[in-house]
Amino acid sequence: MSAGHPRDVVIVGASLAGLRAATTLRAEGFTGNLTLVGAEQYAPYDRPPLSKRFLTGQAPADTALPVPDGLRACWRLGRAAVRLDPYNRILTLADGTGLPYDGLLIATGAAARSGAVPGEPGPEQGVFTLRGRDDATALRAALTPGRKLLVVGAGFLGGEVAAAGRALGLDVTLVEAGAVPLERAVGTEVGAFVGTLHREAGIDLRTGTTVAAYRTGPDGRLTGVRLADGRPIAADVAVLALGAVPATGWLAGSGIDAAGGVPTDSRMRALFPDGSAVPGVVAAGDAARVPQPLADGAAPALGHWSGAVEQGAAAARTLLRGEAAPVFAEVPSFWSDFHGVRLRSVGLPGLADTAKVHECDRGARRLEVSYHLDGRLVGALTIGRTSRLAAYREMLAEHTS
Ligand SMILES: Cc1cc2nc3c(=O)[nH]c(=O)nc-3n(C[C@H](O)[C@H](O)[C@H](O)COP(=O)(O)OP(=O)(O)OC[C@H]3O[C@@H](n4cnc5c(N)ncnc54)[C@H](O)[C@@H]3O)c2cc1C
Repeated sequence: MSAGHPRDVVIVGASLAGLRAATTLRAEGFTGNLTLVGAEQYAPYDRPPLSKRFLTGQAPADTALPVPDGLRACWRLGRAAVRLDPYNRILTLADGTGLPYDGLLIATGAAARSGAVPGEPGPEQGVFTLRGRDDATALRAALTPGRKLLVVGAGFLGGEVAAAGRALGLDVTLVEAGAVPLERAVGTEVGAFVGTLHREAGIDLRTGTTVAAYRTGPDGRLTGVRLADGRPIAADVAVLALGAVPATGWLAGSGIDAAGGVPTDSRMRALFPDGSAVPGVVAAGDAARVPQPLADGAAPALGHWSGAVEQGAAAARTLLRGEAAPVFAEVPSFWSDFHGVRLRSVGLPGLADTAKVHECDRGARRLEVSYHLDGRLVGALTIGRTSRLAAYREMLAEHTS
């Protein structure tokens, strides 16, 4: 990527990472043509409220992200990118339009992972996934008090949806394959603590099991499920919260192996399988796999809001400055809200071989845990103790720099 400013920049994915990149480009002096391509018809909007205050009706239906005046962008919304020719530098949209570019940012995010049960019903039958605004609107309409909600997967998203369901007065069952919620992400100590919060809120948490089959009535609508342990659960509405997969299928045939996310170097340049940079192409956010200094350069899939923001900005700087752009060395961070508490983490707790619990007060709903790998700090997590994370973040930043 040359250090001279590009003239035509195309951003694929008009959401969090894409908007942040666009804003950064203009803020740092880019005067050329800027195009944002988005598969959805909506201007950029924020996703975190969709599983929280939006579902409970406390947030407006429109969670739009602020678009700065003076962005001077050409918006191509409601049109998905379907093909990338990186050799001739042309992006093709679903309507057949070919967009030439000097610089291209891939920021197409991720899609909800679907379940593995054959014959899984869809939203019309009462089984939902949650990734975008339309999903959230349809789910919110289905969450009427007195109904029975089944949430499959007790990760962050599943926990938030289950909590929203309880707040709305539904009977909620939360099914989790692991021994406790969130075990792989943050370990058994935090998982057990969160499991207790769910149970105290009246959620029927079933761990160590999965959905084996769906039951529907004569009208085709969901009536319940049979779990792998044979037990039946009645449900009018189900939400599959089984994680996300990078929305990179449209890159098939481009020469980039993006099935697990677009691999990048530490300046967000997209890489071909031989490790060479794709000319003029950067990637950021949930669609990208970015090397993390805390993981000694490995690139785990994270899917964090702050990562999309920081990577979007970093990718824009690389489009403008090439090799002179700073390498990406932000400390990952994440938050989740449920049952009136805020969980926050910094670093990469999932890497740890040891978790040290510094405070665990179930009554006061407070928790502080640090995570270590081979004796080195790799992450920290708090519930109800956000202020304590700053010191951990500083220590982690020393390592990443
Ligand atoms: C319900 C929900 C709750 C969340 N809560 C939290 C939270 O509490 N804390 C936290 O840290 N993170 C949270 N996240 C994660 C966070 O929102 C994501 O990490 C962030 O949105 C990623 O931004 P992105 O721009 O990379 O991708 P996205 O926000 O997914 O945006 C990608 C955009 O690209 C578009 N697109 C896809 N394919 C194409 C194509 N072929 N052509 C053109 N456009 C395309 C999509 O329609 C979408 O608009 C949550 C996510 C969800 C879904």
